[in-house]
Amino acid sequence: MNKHLVSLVAISTLLLMAAAHTGHAQPTEAEFYDVYIYAAREDIKVLKMLGMSIEGAGPYGVRAYASAEAIAELERLGYVYYVLPKLKRPAFYPTLAEALDIIQSYQTTYGDIMRVTQIGTSAIYAVKISDNPDIEENEPEVLFECNIHGDEGITLLNCLNFIEYLGDNYGSDDTVTALVDGHEILVVPLLNPSGYASDTRYNGHGVDLNRNFGFWWDGWIEYAAGPSPLSEPESQAMTMFVLQNNPALAMAYHSGAECVDYPFDSHYQRSPDESNFNFLGNAYASATGYITWIINGWDWYSVHGITTEQYYGSCGTLAEVTEISWSKQPSSEDSVNSYISANLPAMIDWVAKSDWGVHGTIIDHSGNPVEAMIVIQELDWPAYSDPIVGDYHRFLLAGNYNLWVWANGYQPQTIPITISKDGKATYQDIMLEPSGEGRTYAFRVIVAYQPLPYEQTGLSYPTWALGPPDGKSASLGKA
Ligand SMILES: [Zn+2]
Repeated sequence: MNKHLVSLVAISTLLLMAAAHTGHAQPTEAEFYDVYIYAAREDIKVLKMLGMSIEGAGPYGVRAYASAEAIAELERLGYVYYVLPKLKRPAFYPTLAEALDIIQSYQTTYGDIMRVTQIGTSAIYAVKISDNPDIEENEPEVLFECNIHGDEGITLLNCLNFIEYLGDNYGSDDTVTALVDGHEILVVPLLNPSGYASDTRYNGHGVDLNRNFGFWWDGWIEYAAGPSPLSEPESQAMTMFVLQNNPALAMAYHSGAECVDYPFDSHYQRSPDESNFNFLGNAYASATGYITWIINGWDWYSVHGITTEQYYGSCGTLAEVTEISWSKQPSSEDSVNSYISANLPAMIDWVAKSDWGVHGTIIDHSGNPVEAMIVIQELDWPAYSDPIVGDYHRFLLAGNYNLWVWANGYQPQTIPITISKDGKATYQDIMLEPSGEGRTYAFRVIVAYQPLPYEQTGLSYPTWALGPPDGKSASLGKA
């Protein structure tokens, strides 16, 4: 497919509109079971087709969320499996109403540094934590996402604990104060309110939200991925939220395993940021003191339509997953507290890691901020500057790089930069010159499909279709 001259956003919208909306029977809690199946990696495709949401894979088998019908099929096909005990969420976890009250209370309890805003149409709230929370500043944004799967209650408690720690220690603890003063910390503690209320993985439409995101969505392979990419109000709200904020780093929390994993999850090929992802994942895991398993997402198990690939694909956010605990909702408060206490220093370090790499602002001749695309050419993957302030923040390890900047209506620029050693920051402000060109080129990818068998190399990135003509071809994939 040749270079696209029209906005991919428009294409995405068409794809969304073209996709047929089919009705969903809402699975009730009792119909689904947590199952461990003695199966090989190659069986994962079959398991998905039987109606299972894959939750993890190891050398001996696969952990999946399965309907009673899917379990009957497993039996018929001769798989050896066992059903994990169905544990109700223990009473010490907050109810949905209590959780929403707690989240909204931060606006008053920590009003000097926190703002709580509803994102989208359902009861999803984002907590912004910064020294001037009403103002967009030239500071890296770092996102924490919790409880996209409603039955992974420990992830909610992990995010609440982090918020309260920052709020309680701001002004008295130097590390916390510097962290809050120098960053815009964004926490979405409860991304799936209806799933949390009914203590189930899926949302109120029976969709696995972490299969519904648009960047490399594949509802033909994934179970309960929704009728079309970004069909759900929760995934729409979250996608809009990240597009508005362009976080430098993000961590998405799950439970049911103890590991850190990172993109690509949907394709065999390593991402351009493989070494950055691996470095950051190792740093996070070692800061927890108990996570020792850091793995490329595909190597763990293949999955499409997840938040981390959406954030990476549409914003350039280096986004990873932390699986906090083998138990989705540990049954004792002591156990929960030991897990979330261990994750706290890792979350603080994760925010601090956003200071690494290259930072600056992008403006035009009048000094107005420009929302621009930034590509480190050696990595060949776009990130974006903020539309309100024009600031950008791109994590990099030590090295020499070429930074390519472009926005519609402006001439591209390439600027050599050096990061002298790991942990150092380089500052590069950029003024863009008008191009005088009337044409508008694609600027971001929101929704794309993969064109190849996922086990093959040679994947072309849809991000190659962005920007002015450069002779590089890319495909948006099958539709
Ligand atoms: Zn999960």
